[in-house]
Amino acid sequence: MLLDCCRSSSESWVLLGSAGIPIWDWSSVCVVLLFTVLQMVLYYLPVGQVAEGKMGCDGKHLKYKLNGLYAFLLTVVLLLVLWFGGVLRAGAVMDKIFSLVTAGMAISLIFSLVLFLCPIRTPSSAHVTYDSTAKPLLKFALGQSMDPHLGIIDIKHFVMVRIGFIGWAMMDLNYLLTSVEMKNWSLSLLLVIVFQLIYILDFLIDEGSVLTTKEFTEEPIGFIMILGEFIWIPFFSSLPVYFLLQRPNSIHFLSAVPICLLFGIGFLIYYLSNEQKDGFRKNPNDPAYARLNTIRSPAGSSLLVSGWFGWVRHPNYLGDILMMFAWCLPCGFTSVLPYLPALQCFQLLRKRANEIEESCLKKHREAWREYCRRVPYKLLPYVY
Ligand code: NDP
Repeated sequence: MLLDCCRSSSESWVLLGSAGIPIWDWSSVCVVLLFTVLQMVLYYLPVGQVAEGKMGCDGKHLKYKLNGLYAFLLTVVLLLVLWFGGVLRAGAVMDKIFSLVTAGMAISLIFSLVLFLCPIRTPSSAHVTYDSTAKPLLKFALGQSMDPHLGIIDIKHFVMVRIGFIGWAMMDLNYLLTSVEMKNWSLSLLLVIVFQLIYILDFLIDEGSVLTTKEFTEEPIGFIMILGEFIWIPFFSSLPVYFLLQRPNSIHFLSAVPICLLFGIGFLIYYLSNEQKDGFRKNPNDPAYARLNTIRSPAGSSLLVSGWFGWVRHPNYLGDILMMFAWCLPCGFTSVLPYLPALQCFQLLRKRANEIEESCLKKHREAWREYCRRVPYKLLPYVY
């Protein structure tokens, strides 16, 4: 519906009202399947390091292949070869956008059903136990297994990084090629695509950081997560680019300067604060952190109370939000549609900040209370 709204000039919520665009098409199913199989094959590329993640049920650290960047680069090369070779017309992919979404939905539904009906049990993967009153639909939606593996492929890692993020980059690149074919590329379109690709590349370069996130370590994989990675991330995150293709908005070169500045500031806050926190968590005795003030937690670790995490309690979320808003601004202010991903991300990160704080309070107890006293703001000093 959101994609459809971008196509029509009025913002009436006409469900799939754009004439002539199919919502089901077998060739779209083949495209999504081929992309999924390609990413599975690329997972086996003998490059990139193997990282140790959380502890599995068998007392051994789970291992993850970190070659997402290489998989991404090879997928880009393949896309460009197909495009330059005349095999692929980017505009044709655009014309099948609705059927690509429905194909992604169908494949994630089948994928989740298989995982639900034949759960993969390995010695390292924990199985989630629900209480006896939990409905099967809830188990299907939220998932029953923490870390299911298919050969060397960790399914959660695979869908998050390879389907979600590489799929998002491919949608952006396809939109870019479409604009070249239609000769309607603009500064605003280029800005949004470049910003999003920087964000995706940074994620892929530092792929290991996903292994310590809350959904990766604490949440099982079920239909909601799989659907999110097949649909939400690739199609919803690239909505501002799609919007600009449908409703071009030209911006003056000078207005690009503050937008780039906002993105740059957001990126620096996001990158540097994550670097500081991840580095400190890995090696708190590193001399690079010797000047920072810390509080000792009863859990055995320490909390940073100066540096980025002494400024606000979630500086990385603030950076994330600033970047997301920066890549909406080139779309102008005629519609709320391109701002929806940023608004949703803002709401998600606000909620996530509360959840993280709850679990940190349980884990670090008095040390966390003391941290909150010394660093009273969550996202923006003196505001929130
Ligand atoms: P964080 O990166 O903020 O990690 C939270 C953990 O960091 C806490 O559980 C705690 O771990 C540790 N920590 C918190 N405060 C301190 C402190 N002061 N000193 C030392 N350690 C501290 O959260 P996420 O894992 O959720 O996010 C990772 C990245 O992913 C972020 O950059 C976020 O912006 C991004 N993200 C983006 C989303 C989007 O939709 N755009 C969605 C989700 C994440 P411990 O208890 O082990 O010490």
